Amino acid sequence: MPTIAVLPGDGIGPEVTACALKVLERVRPDCDYVTCSVGADAIRKFGDPYPPQTEAVVKRSVGILFGAVGGTEFDGKPVQERPEWALFRLRKENDLYANIRPVRIFESLENASSLKPELVRGLDLIVLRELTSGLYFGRKETKIVDGVETAIDTLYYNAKEIERIARFGFELARGRNKRLTSVDKLNVLETSRLWRKIVIEVAKDYPDVALEHMLVDNAAMQLVRDPKRFDVMVTENTFGDILSDEAAMLSGSIGNLPSASLGGDASADGGGRFGLYEPISGTAPDIAGQGIANPTAAILSAAMLVRYSLNDAANAKRIEEAVAATFRSGARTRDLAGTSTALGSAAFTEVVLSNL
Ligand code: NAD
Repeated sequence: MPTIAVLPGDGIGPEVTACALKVLERVRPDCDYVTCSVGADAIRKFGDPYPPQTEAVVKRSVGILFGAVGGTEFDGKPVQERPEWALFRLRKENDLYANIRPVRIFESLENASSLKPELVRGLDLIVLRELTSGLYFGRKETKIVDGVETAIDTLYYNAKEIERIARFGFELARGRNKRLTSVDKLNVLETSRLWRKIVIEVAKDYPDVALEHMLVDNAAMQLVRDPKRFDVMVTENTFGDILSDEAAMLSGSIGNLPSASLGGDASADGGGRFGLYEPISGTAPDIAGQGIANPTAAILSAAMLVRYSLNDAANAKRIEEAVAATFRSGARTRDLAGTSTALGSAAFTEVVLSNL
């Protein structure tokens, strides 16, 4: 029986993860779902954001269903003592370098987008973000320089790190509309010069995929001007973090967007590989504990787990279609409800379950 590690974390994490778990247990009752502590919750209970007992379960699991981590009481502490450190360790230690963030618009939610319906109708793009290097993992330092307090973050990439994420991007594009946009900041950054050189080299192995290069500032603009021009966007860690949140709003709510973080060989076709699956949002402290969070991102993350880690495309599709049917029926959580009556997270999930 495959083990799935369930790490709800903090804020709305436990609320939306409970919803996703219900869906998972319905479609795949043959798995062993083991819930563990992570983030601020684990710091409070065990003094460690990623305690050994959680790590032990992760090590024997085929995939992780993750909620979110964070807590303001840790603001100002070094990153290693913060809840977020759990996520950095999970990504780095499992070499989960490829973060797939699909942005799809449900037909019945076209009017909820920040853009005009005609700009987002039928939108289906993927932001592929490099997740284990770059600014977030480079050397950090705070020191006094010429009597002035100075902080330094290092933006670092090596050719191997760029090659494998580029390859992942080409493989994804090859399985879709065969268009890849590589986003960098060639005009300013050394890392971008290396990035572009390697991407061009990798492109020789994918003559069937149309490659374009775009500077990150232009990419941010094009995402709101004409998002349908994109198929797969591949980019480094920081740019991907920001662009994918921007892209999220095209779908009407950040609560709609799932993600998968994978490692291994890019051409492994996605089947049966270890991965971490989570909503792209954070702990949403402003609405936590009220039972009103949109669980869609968590439920769609569960669908990605079923697809990639359980190698079960049929049940993944079942979940995605049940969510689409739920929106078609008019069910909405508060973030999308507008003037209509909003359902709580649990009631919304019941509709999804009934549509399965
Ligand atoms: P956030 O994503 O938590 O919230 C931004 C806004 O979106 C809030 O108004 C929130 O209510 C809303 N929102 C988010 N998810 C929603 C949902 N499912 N349904 C309805 N509304 C939703 O971002 P933030 O406020 O910048 O960060 C809060 C905390 O989360 C911080 O401690 C941050 O470090 C942490 N964080 C964690 C992760 C993660 O665990 N992967 C990611 C981002 C931020």
